[in-house]
Amino acid sequence: MSQLFQDFQPLAAIATTPIGAQKLQPLCQAAGATLWLPESLTNLENTQVYTGSLKTHIASLWHNHRAFVFCLATGAVVRLIAPLVKDKSSDPAVLVVDQATRFVISLCSGHQGGADQLAQLIAHQLGTTPIVTGAAADLGLPGIDLLGVPFGWYRGTGDWTKVSAAVACGETVQVIQEAGSRLWQSQLPETHTFEFGGDGEMGRWGDGEMGRWGDGEMRRWGDGETRRHGDTEMGRIEIPGKILFTPSEPKARIWISPKLKSGQTSHIPEVEWHPRVLWVGIGCERGTSKQLIEQAIQQTCQDYHLAIPAIAGIATIDRKADEIGILELCEQCNFPLRTFPAEVLSSVNVPTPSKIVAAEVGTPSVAEAAAICGSLPPSTFTPPKVGGLGGQNDFVYVSPYQAEQIPNSLIVPKQIFKSPEQPGAVTVAIAQSEQEYTGRTGQLFLIGIGPGQLDQMTLAAKTAVTQADAVIGYSLYIDLIAPLRRPGQIIEALPITQERQRANRAIELAEWGLTVAVISSGDCGIYGMAGLVLEQLRASGWDGKTPGVQMFPGITALQAAASRVGAPLMHDFCAISLSDLLTPWEVIAKRLEAAAKADFVTALYNPRSRSRTQQIASAQAIFLKYRHPQTPVAIVRSAYREDEQITLITLDKLLDIQIDMLTTVLIGNQSTAIYGDWMITPRGYLGFGREAVSNG
Ligand code: SAH
Repeated sequence: MSQLFQDFQPLAAIATTPIGAQKLQPLCQAAGATLWLPESLTNLENTQVYTGSLKTHIASLWHNHRAFVFCLATGAVVRLIAPLVKDKSSDPAVLVVDQATRFVISLCSGHQGGADQLAQLIAHQLGTTPIVTGAAADLGLPGIDLLGVPFGWYRGTGDWTKVSAAVACGETVQVIQEAGSRLWQSQLPETHTFEFGGDGEMGRWGDGEMGRWGDGEMRRWGDGETRRHGDTEMGRIEIPGKILFTPSEPKARIWISPKLKSGQTSHIPEVEWHPRVLWVGIGCERGTSKQLIEQAIQQTCQDYHLAIPAIAGIATIDRKADEIGILELCEQCNFPLRTFPAEVLSSVNVPTPSKIVAAEVGTPSVAEAAAICGSLPPSTFTPPKVGGLGGQNDFVYVSPYQAEQIPNSLIVPKQIFKSPEQPGAVTVAIAQSEQEYTGRTGQLFLIGIGPGQLDQMTLAAKTAVTQADAVIGYSLYIDLIAPLRRPGQIIEALPITQERQRANRAIELAEWGLTVAVISSGDCGIYGMAGLVLEQLRASGWDGKTPGVQMFPGITALQAAASRVGAPLMHDFCAISLSDLLTPWEVIAKRLEAAAKADFVTALYNPRSRSRTQQIASAQAIFLKYRHPQTPVAIVRSAYREDEQITLITLDKLLDIQIDMLTTVLIGNQSTAIYGDWMITPRGYLGFGREAVSNG
């Protein structure tokens, strides 16, 4: 459970009344929060006591906590935190829960501090209503200051308040995205008022270039039509030789780029996001100081107008893997270090090869070649992995064939730096990767959403769906959980047949650093996505830890179906899927035979599809060999969904009823009886059980 709240740790909760303390206590346990109480309430377990004034106590916690949950009057909380609140980029999340736990209010630091999201998570835990008052959430839009967070982008300079206000007011906001994932674009509601550019030059629009739109759909600008977009009529401007379209004048602009904005001042408010796409290749003399390397990188970035926060990491030759200056820099800046053998580096085409370097280290280029290799997906250098949990992967070199395919991602050729004050010499080159480095450890939440109705889903599963950056599942289930979605979440709904694609996509996103919820109906571990995801992870040589995996069980179809008809599963039972898509029919038939013979109450999953109609008849025939034709059978279709249908019937008439892929069939055992509208299997075979047999 604590994984769900890990972005908010350390989390402090404060209550000042016995009821408040009781209400917050289970939440604190689930969320891994410390519950602080005044001395007068010392009799509660797992709590901490503060002495003196609450104001002083909060002040002492303020700077080293990510989030606060108060069970106090909102006004009192406002007064408590007023002297501490400074800046929305650094203040912790502050939430207020009322004593009756009817509401959880996101009071302060809703976006960057995460209070809006935490309010939703806590609302799930308490079964209460989150109060989120930011305008973006209301419009179904991600906060402007949040949209890059899942992808590990850094916020650059800008007037975040004004740009957010422009979005909230439905003004046209221009987006110039030159790097980083465009997944966020595909999730916007149709009413959004963003206009996407991307050629990087300010004010250039509609010159016939294709802009990427959403998830890869292309949209052509300036094809001579005037069209409406959102609420804004697009006007037509002509300049010699070109027709430009302005989607009404943008009132604000968002830059998404590894570059710094050019010196031009803009007449509209702007903000910058920096995806981490820059890989700095470094070659240096032994003993080069960290300071010199740092200065060289800073100078290079400055000369080429690159944003330092857009640096993803450092790449160099493997013999520099122990170079102190590089290691110190990586530690200081939290940069990953990627190192490559000379054989790999020498196979890369570079603009400035050097014979001297080649003679010294066995490759004509270190900085440029390493920058290019660093910018490639790590899988380029990893062999296809073999199965087995915890399997080791040997590093393999890029074959010369692959090397020829390497795109030239270099954006800064090698620059050489020396300084009279610092020891050593350093060469710096920079390449830009296609996909940004997120710097985050991905998580896979494998979630069972239950039979359909949201109140049949566990609180933990709901919380996990809300918490995830991306939610992947079959479109019907995605629709069922729609109320749990958060604005800005990446939703990928795939057709029913594409389970393996769903699993692979989830793993891909998680390996990249996202928290991904994979949803199954019922329980994810019962004919669900959990097995597929774990199988695929195993096949890719997963170490069992990264990405992290957490399961969220759900009410499976047999429980849901049983609960609608009484207590048919009271004694030993089993589940058998009649789908022979992944299992040979002989195996299924053998299990049916065994279950029938051993008198298990049996739940049949996937009983019949449009193309697979025979299996249910065969199953009936097998059961009739061992069970009385009058054996009670429940046929439950779409349990807990709007179109639910329940039929109680006997084994011999089983095929008279419509059975499809939304149906679960429960076949009673020899003791199961029908009583009115109820199907009852005795708990034991003494007493009532005997009568039930005779009722049979
Ligand atoms: N993971 C799911 C099972 C997926 S297999 C679970 O644990 O429930 C799909 C089969 O489950 C369907 O063909 C049907 O037999 C059964 N099923 C799923 N949801 C159902 C529902 N709401 N009502 C009846 N049967 C259902």
